[in-house]
Amino acid sequence: MGEFVGFRCNFCGYEETQLPVGKGRDPDKEIRLFVCTSCKSVHSTWVEGDEKPRCSVCYDSNIQLLEPVAQELNCPKCEAVAVIAPESGSWE
Ligand SMILES: [Zn+2]
Ligand SMILES: [Zn+2]
Repeated sequence: MGEFVGFRCNFCGYEETQLPVGKGRDPDKEIRLFVCTSCKSVHSTWVEGDEKPRCSVCYDSNIQLLEPVAQELNCPKCEAVAVIAPESGSWE
């Protein structure tokens, strides 16, 4: 089962909630968090095999995947240190 995480920057107020991460029923696919340097957002997207993942917002391939353990992240909008925190709920 996958989980949800949220991103919140206390400095500029940018936040994303209920971003799905992890694996669902299909063990070959995984949803990972990324930072998009083009649209300066934090989101999550499917990563499968050798396919190059794209931003789920602007479809740019210029994204940086984050390790699932990342708890701190520089906010893509203002570059202050922000946090990634687990949220309640799960998905399959
Ligand atoms: Zn910020
Ligand atoms: Zn983007």
